[in-house]
Amino acid sequence: MELATKPEKYTPKYNPSKDIFEDESPFPPYSKKNQTYTCPCNGYQFCKTNLFNSHIKSNTHKNWLENYKENNKELNDAKSNANILLAENTILKRKLNNIDNKYRIELEKKDKIISKLEKEANKYTNLKRCMKIFMDDIDDDDDANFSDVSS
Ligand SMILES: [Zn+2]
Repeated sequence: MELATKPEKYTPKYNPSKDIFEDESPFPPYSKKNQTYTCPCNGYQFCKTNLFNSHIKSNTHKNWLENYKENNKELNDAKSNANILLAENTILKRKLNNIDNKYRIELEKKDKIISKLEKEANKYTNLKRCMKIFMDDIDDDDDANFSDVSS
């Protein structure tokens, strides 16, 4: 079974001695089954060398190839800008994550302190209640100085 593979983007070859980009068929000579390529100049799709050869003679393609280096430069600049922004974003995310963690740890500490204080307060309330009962018992016999304990 043949899989319908996504067409690959055609890119011209760079010729360093002339410092230009040149058309070169992406297919091996005489091959019959080829990967489909899309030319970015107008979206033309081809999978055979003869189709490629006639496409590169079109004016649209020639103009595209002439401007390829310049367009590519802008694209590369945009890409490196995007990479810088991505790197900065990663650093900021890491910093934010650290702050989040510190904040979370502080919150956990506070929660522990609060629950400890709540326990203490409960103990104190219970103790106060016990003392009040005790004092009320005493008050029955003796009007002592502890009458303001309940306030
Ligand atoms: Zn083209």
